[in-house]
Amino acid sequence: MTHTLIGAPVLVVGAGIMGAGIAQVAAQAGHSVLLFDTRDGAAAQAKDKLTQTLEGLAAKGKLSAEAVAQTLSRIITIAALEEAADVGLVVEAIVEKLDAKRGLFQQLEAIVAADCVLASNTSSISVTAIANGLQHPQRLVGMHFFNPVPLMKLVEVVSGLQTDAAVASSIFELSKVWGKVPVHARSTPGFIVNRIARPYYAESLALLQEQAATPAVLDACLRSAGFRMGPCELMDLIGHDTNFSVTQSVFEANFYDKRFVPSLVQRELVDGGLLGRKSGRGFYDYAQAVSAPEPAVVEPVALPTAQLLRVHGQGPVADRWVAALMQAGQAFLRVPDSDWVGLGVEGAQLRLTDGRTATQLGVEVSVFDLPLNAPSGAALAWASSLRASPAWTRAAPRWLATLGFKPQRVADTPALVVARTLAMLINEAADAVQQGVCTQDGADAAMKLGVNYPAGPFEWLAQWSTPAVLGVLDALDAHYRGERYRVSPWLRQRPWMDVESS
Ligand code: NAD
Repeated sequence: MTHTLIGAPVLVVGAGIMGAGIAQVAAQAGHSVLLFDTRDGAAAQAKDKLTQTLEGLAAKGKLSAEAVAQTLSRIITIAALEEAADVGLVVEAIVEKLDAKRGLFQQLEAIVAADCVLASNTSSISVTAIANGLQHPQRLVGMHFFNPVPLMKLVEVVSGLQTDAAVASSIFELSKVWGKVPVHARSTPGFIVNRIARPYYAESLALLQEQAATPAVLDACLRSAGFRMGPCELMDLIGHDTNFSVTQSVFEANFYDKRFVPSLVQRELVDGGLLGRKSGRGFYDYAQAVSAPEPAVVEPVALPTAQLLRVHGQGPVADRWVAALMQAGQAFLRVPDSDWVGLGVEGAQLRLTDGRTATQLGVEVSVFDLPLNAPSGAALAWASSLRASPAWTRAAPRWLATLGFKPQRVADTPALVVARTLAMLINEAADAVQQGVCTQDGADAAMKLGVNYPAGPFEWLAQWSTPAVLGVLDALDAHYRGERYRVSPWLRQRPWMDVESS
C-alpha cells in the first residue's frame, strides 16, 4: 500500500509535552489537527499553553500574527475519538505503557479508515509488540520525536517486524515536510539514539564508581572533546530517574546483557532522591544557580627547562607537539617510526593513550587522553604509572600545559576519559549497523540531531582510525574482563573492509 500523508488531517492522541509539540509542528506544516486526551480538559489546556507560546514568539517578531492565528485555527480539540473518523494519520503520544498503546490502536482501528496510518511516538516500547493484535499491523510505525518537538530536528522512523515499507517511507517523507530530519530505524531496544548513547553515561559512571575522577573533571574533559554538556551535568539535567529507567529498560530488553548493566552510582542517587536539577541536587548542588561546573584544580603551569626531547610517532597529535615545542623555542628530535605517539623527555615517556594503562607501559610513563579536536586551553585527562617517580609525575602535566592543555589528573585507567567514551560509542554504533538497526549515515545523523553530539560515531571512526579504536577496546576488555567491552564483530572485521575499499 502507498500513502501520501502530506496535507492529510492528523489526529494526535495524548496532549502532554510531546503530543502538544507534535500538534504544533503538524499544524504549522498546514495540516488540520485533532487533539485528544482522556484526562478532562487536558487537550484544551495544551492548546491554551500553545497559544501563549506562539503569541510569545509573535511578540518577539519570530512569527507573524497571521501565522499564529492560522496555526491555532488548525488545531481542534475533540472529546471523543469517534470524531476523528476521517483522519489520514494518527500520532499517538500517550503514557509509555504497552497495554495502553495496544488498546488505543485497537480502538482506533474500529473508527478510522483501513488505510489510515497509525504512528506511535514511543521512546522504548517495541513497535512490533504494539502492532500485535491489530487487524492491519502493517500500518503501524514508530514516529519517534525528541523533546522539545518544535526544536529538535530528528525523527526516528521505526519499523516493526510487520511494518509495511511503504508506510515507513510515507512517514519519512512527511517528517521532511514537517521540517525534520528522519532516519530509518529497526524496532530494537532503545532504537538508535537511546541505544548508542548509553556508553556516554555508562563510561563516566564506571569511572566514578572506580573513583578514577570527579564529575567536574569528567565533564570538563568531554566538553573539551566538543560535547555541549559533560555526561554528569547532562544526567543532572535529564533527571537521574529518567536516565536510569532508560538504561534499565535497554538492559532488560536485551535479556540482561552485561554490556548495558545500569550503575550503582546512579541507583544510589535515584534512591536518595538526588535526581539532578529538578530536585536541586544530583552530582552537583543547584541550591544556588550556577553555570556549568569547572574542575576545581588545574595543575600549575611552568615552562620546563630544556632537556633531551623527542617527538614520537606521526599524525595530528605528533604534529601538535612539534608546533608547540617550536613555539616554546625547545630543541627536539623526531622519531616518526616509533610505535607510540607523544613526547620523550630524557628516558621518560608522555604517550597518547592506546588503551593500555601507564603502569602497563612502564616505569617513567604517563599517558594522556585523545585530544580529538580539543582547542587550546581545553581540559585533557592524563595519568601516571603507579611506578613513576614523583619528579616525573610532577613534570608530565607541565609538558601537557606546554602543549596548550589544562591537564586533569585521573587514576591510571585504560583509555582515560575521551578515548574510552568515544571508542565505546563507536562500538555500540557498529553493533547497531551490523544488526540492521540503522545505516552508518543514519547513526551519525541521529546522534548529531537527537542528542547534539559534535560528530557522529562513524565520523569519529574515520577521523581516529579503526586499528586505534580496536586497540582501545581490546585494552579495556583485557583490563576489565567483562562483557561490556567486547568488540563489535562488525568493527573487528572493519580493517579488511577498509583495505578492500582503498
Ligand atoms: P505526558 O505525561 O506529558 O503526556 C501524556 C498524555 O497522555 C497525558 O496528558 C495523559 O493524560 C494522556 N493519556 C494517557 N493515556 C491516554 C489514553 N489512553 N488516551 C489518550 N490520552 C492519554 O507524556 P510525554 O512526555 O508527552 O510522553 C508521551 C509519549 O511520548 C510516551 O510514549 C513517551 O515515552 C514518548 N516520548 C517522550 C519524550 C519526552 O522527552 N518526554 C521523548 C520522546 C518520546
